[in-house]
Amino acid sequence: MARVLLLATTTGYQIRAFGEAAERLGVDLVFGSDRCHMLDDPWMDRAVPIRFHDEQSSVAAILEAAGSRPIDGVLAVGDQPTVIAALVREALGLPGHPAFAAAAARNKLATRERLRSAGLAVPAFVQDSVSVDPHRLASSVAFPAVVKRVALSGSRGVMRVNDEEELVKAYYRLRALLQSPDIRAERNPAHDFVLVEEFIPGREFAVEGVMNHGNLHVLAVFDKPDPLDGPFFEETIYVTPSRLAQGEQRSLTNTIARAAAALGLRHRPIHAECRVNERGIYVLEVAARPIGGLCARALRFVQAADLVEGSLEELLLRHALGEWSTLWRREPDASGVMMIPIPRRGVFRGAGGLDQARSIPGITDVRLTAKTDQLLVPLPEAASYLGFIFARGGSPDDVEATLRCSHARLHLFIDPEVPVLQSLHG
Ligand code: ADP
Repeated sequence: MARVLLLATTTGYQIRAFGEAAERLGVDLVFGSDRCHMLDDPWMDRAVPIRFHDEQSSVAAILEAAGSRPIDGVLAVGDQPTVIAALVREALGLPGHPAFAAAAARNKLATRERLRSAGLAVPAFVQDSVSVDPHRLASSVAFPAVVKRVALSGSRGVMRVNDEEELVKAYYRLRALLQSPDIRAERNPAHDFVLVEEFIPGREFAVEGVMNHGNLHVLAVFDKPDPLDGPFFEETIYVTPSRLAQGEQRSLTNTIARAAAALGLRHRPIHAECRVNERGIYVLEVAARPIGGLCARALRFVQAADLVEGSLEELLLRHALGEWSTLWRREPDASGVMMIPIPRRGVFRGAGGLDQARSIPGITDVRLTAKTDQLLVPLPEAASYLGFIFARGGSPDDVEATLRCSHARLHLFIDPEVPVLQSLHG
């Protein structure tokens, strides 16, 4: 039985989806995470415990485990383990994104530098230490600008600022976030820096793809129909196929292929985000991993030859074992997902209207991933999703309208956070 090692940051639904796909394909899935002691999943006893911040010893632990249970393919989900996955593949002689490329892809500064050197459009940017005087930063940027961190994902710690005063406030907010315990636990030296970029106006798109030995195979171009103008950049609706004209889509995907090549990404999944305006196509990032959260469930694929259907996870497992992704294409239906916005900070008590939200024709699922009594934290500090709504339909317009209609039926119950009282005895 072929064996695939899956390196993942979280232990949630995305991992379960890979587990189900592996079962369908008869693939032995071995799991590697640095949260193994917290796992509640069926692979717990077979997981390889590693520490993402310690790449060398993580690779050594995986190679040692691979000595008794040989690995035929390696996949990473989430940004953190992409470099370890690449190093393991390199050590085992398996094809994949080179480690230097995976490292550049998860570092916003390295990404900007490489794309600029390749002649691609990039926002003007300055980087400085997290302990810089923010007024000094303000003197070297034009407004509006975006204050952000060098690593992290999900728009966490990304803020638009329109003047010096906003920049100074955003800088202190970002600094506090970077010094929070969960981010310090990553021990990522990139968190010692802040980045300030020119704000690029325009429409935003996401592209899901698989690189096959240097060639980009586009699996889906997603429209993000809600304007993302700040001050924070909460992702909401993704709809595919894109309504962008065919010629513009080709320019977009060609630019992403150039960006992936500039980063050195060659083989395995990519997820790219870009902005388009009258000045051109700005690739904001090309991550060396598939789309995150539960969003992959918005994608279904068919294999043209024998009409086999499959999920993104199935496609990626097959690819990890040597199949070309180009045998697969996205199904003909339009499809979309809404990442349910977090309306305010507070304690999540549940949701009403779920049945009504699910009953809208075209809705395929409504999933709340936040747990009852969980503290909901909106952006820019947010680190997790509230839930997801999925829809399919005949056209992207229908799908978008269906998602909005379903969302309007949901009532979220969020209580104010109760401040933690100091001990009565002092
Ligand atoms: P992440 O890895 O968290 O997605 P990004 O740098 O891609 O971080 O930023 C998240 C979002 O913030 C983007 O999808 C975009 O909407 C917005 N954003 C980031 N940088 C810029 C910029 N320079 N101009 C305009 N919007 C930006």
